[in-house]
Amino acid sequence: MPIYEYRATGKGCKYCRDRFEIRQSIDAKPLTECPKCQAPVRKLVSRFRACVSETPDEVVETERKIRDHEEEGRWSHAAELADKAGLEDRARENYKKAGYEM
Ligand SMILES: [Zn+2]
Repeated sequence: MPIYEYRATGKGCKYCRDRFEIRQSIDAKPLTECPKCQAPVRKLVSRFRACVSETPDEVVETERKIRDHEEEGRWSHAAELADKAGLEDRARENYKKAGYEM
């Protein structure tokens, strides 16, 4: 079963505030609320997963670098990488954290 990513659209709980992953069958209806706190959630388009089969090493490496930057609080670096990798949501989040107006 594929893994889908969701995030609360507003104020969520600890579980859904950032993003959470859930396994769903391919024809299951997308979640509309957090399974833990019932806050509204939206599905994230995860291009990272979608292109894993094409260039696994490169993508995993990029993902790892982004994570490193995020852990160190280098938001603009993380955002740039995410941007290049086509991870729009991730890039936007990091740009915001870096203090850019989006
Ligand atoms: Zn929640």
